[in-house]
Amino acid sequence: MDAERLLALDAAHAWHPYTSTIDRDPVYPVRAAAGCELELMDGRRLIDGMASWWCAIHGYNHPVLNAAAVTQLQHMAHVMFGGLTHAPAVGLVERLVRLTPEPLQQVFLCDSGSVSVEVAMKMALQYQQALGRPDRSRFLTVRSGYHGDTFDAMSVCDPVTGMHHLFGRVLPRQLFAPAPAPRFGEPCTDADIAAFTALIEEHVDTLAGVILEPIVQGAGGMRFYSAEYLARVRALCDHFDVLLIADEIATGFGRTGRLFACEHAAISPDIMTLGKALTGGYLTSAATLTTRQVADTLSRGTPGVFMHGPTFMGNPLACAIANASIDLLLSQDWQGNIARIAAALSAGLAPCQTLPGVAEVRVLGAIGVVEMTQPVPMREIQRRFVARGVWVRPFGRLVYLMPPYIISDAQLQQLCEATVAVIAEAA
Ligand SMILES: *Cc1c(COP(=O)(O)O)cnc(C)c1O
Repeated sequence: MDAERLLALDAAHAWHPYTSTIDRDPVYPVRAAAGCELELMDGRRLIDGMASWWCAIHGYNHPVLNAAAVTQLQHMAHVMFGGLTHAPAVGLVERLVRLTPEPLQQVFLCDSGSVSVEVAMKMALQYQQALGRPDRSRFLTVRSGYHGDTFDAMSVCDPVTGMHHLFGRVLPRQLFAPAPAPRFGEPCTDADIAAFTALIEEHVDTLAGVILEPIVQGAGGMRFYSAEYLARVRALCDHFDVLLIADEIATGFGRTGRLFACEHAAISPDIMTLGKALTGGYLTSAATLTTRQVADTLSRGTPGVFMHGPTFMGNPLACAIANASIDLLLSQDWQGNIARIAAALSAGLAPCQTLPGVAEVRVLGAIGVVEMTQPVPMREIQRRFVARGVWVRPFGRLVYLMPPYIISDAQLQQLCEATVAVIAEAA
């Protein structure tokens, strides 16, 4: 199919994420992707600054992940996980238990990030019911969060930038503390956690759990907050006997400089969600981990089983690739590599600091953020980035870079130079 026909059919029938069917956003046809580059159908090559929404940590068309996929295909692409088990899934749950904080011992594999959040929330609800506390059915979170687009996940997204205004009538009503004020590296004072403390104290009898993204709030604002704040949330959840759910879907697998962002605060959640980089961006897959105590308590309640079971859970192909992706990550000096990317992003984006319209530049691990004072015109900015040979997709007031970990120094420099140039032009 040539590009013209492809674009015509796309415009006629394909519905892209968060888009209108009558006022269409431009789309760029990709022919192939390899390493850190996307190749458009007209032959142009773009340096990827997004890792395909933060998943493709090893870049594209990676020989090790390709080999894992091909080998697994020769055995089986898929079998149901009800009543059957297999080496790829068992290998994955074993790895996840070994790598995450020690108390997390039981893994529920599922289809996507949002589903793993639904699963986490259902676990918390069934756990409270099993303890004879059915009134503990709400969740407390912090503003500026993002946890996915399915209903319960939406209910704990930021109530202003999320979709509460649209779906509020059918969303469960959750509790929202202010977004954590102290930044990453700063201490957290009593005053910084006072509003959160007051909410948990006041509503403890109706709270099933607290859910938040540890350290980095991703799609809700790309904010990096104090590890001490997270540690204090953990202590409050312990004190009030409320479950803590850490959504590591964006932060997991090294993005922040630690394998999991909870490690910055040396805490373990009661439930953890993983997704995005889990399969190195090859296939959709996710996992919800919990403790022996939560899992077994839930199982002692009524109806005695956890009530969830997606058709494609534990998909062997996804699990085999996830295992290869995790082993590939751990076989390298990945911490040194993330530090290299962090240093290059800090240096490369620093010139943005003095540009008009820029509110702040911040970097943590392999995440670089330029926060503007006003929302950026996305179509126009996107076009300018493509013209400069890079793929960056801003949202709201945020122009951010989350490249594949394999990005070279030269590519990082080009990516940062393009970002500085595009922001300077836009001003
Ligand atoms: C992307 C994301 C999700 C949702 O994952 P999907 O795979 O898009 O459903 C949930 N939580 C966080 C923190 C995310 O970044």
